Amino acid sequence: MRDLAAREDLHCLNTATLGYREPIEITVRRVAQAGFRKITPWRQEIEEDHPERASAMIRAAGLEVAAYCRTTYFTADDAAGRRAAIDSNRKALEAAAVLGAPMLVAVVGGLAPSSRDAAACREQILDGLHALLPTMRATGVKVALEPLHPYYAADRSLLNTIAQAIDWCERLDPAREGWFGIAVDAYHAWWDPSLEESIRRAGTRIVALHVCDWLRETRDPLLDRGMMGDGVIDLRRLRACVEATGFGGAVEVEIFSQLDWWRRDPDEVLRVCRQRLATAC
Ligand code: ZN
Repeated sequence: MRDLAAREDLHCLNTATLGYREPIEITVRRVAQAGFRKITPWRQEIEEDHPERASAMIRAAGLEVAAYCRTTYFTADDAAGRRAAIDSNRKALEAAAVLGAPMLVAVVGGLAPSSRDAAACREQILDGLHALLPTMRATGVKVALEPLHPYYAADRSLLNTIAQAIDWCERLDPAREGWFGIAVDAYHAWWDPSLEESIRRAGTRIVALHVCDWLRETRDPLLDRGMMGDGVIDLRRLRACVEATGFGGAVEVEIFSQLDWWRRDPDEVLRVCRQRLATAC
């Protein structure tokens, strides 16, 4: 297992952790000064018509872009809505390429607004993902399918387990060309009774590892994520399991915390994140 205390090069910060309170210029500066080597920005922080500017600034700060967050939901009530989502996601892939991000994170969408048909909506999602392939090949940017905790099935994601993500990878990428991978997020995956078996089965399809913690007394399953070490997830065991697949990527801190960490000084948040990467993951 890799020694995160000695491997600063594996420390990655997902900018959601700072709550999007400041412009990307300031966030990038803080993240670099805190000693992170990688960053995963969100689309609302990047001017997608001109991502060159953000790209140059991130490189000048000495950071690499680990990934780009995230896809527009693929599900919609009509074909025009589904086409618009695909167009938006093509644009995200193109921006990701300019940023130097090897992957776009896919949060795929829940039920279409007027639908009760989860199976049909999953097919919409698969069709949408498949439609991105030409742009993925043209840009060289892959898609990391991120299963979300089933709490989010209605409104955010009908992709809910790693096992399901493996099935989707097999369907979307039967020749294993590697265009579709899986992002394992501790917060979404820890509860799964098949977690370790699924990670083993996913093998080299795992392309990202996101960490935070699940607080035993969660006040809001969306925006009350805990700092690593403050909750119930055995993060070291999870990381060992992911690394046993040969995973060589960074460990990405991603904490949505409206009730706590988003209210604290950003530099304090970053300092604690780096300590906990070294001691609690
Ligand atoms: Zn995540």
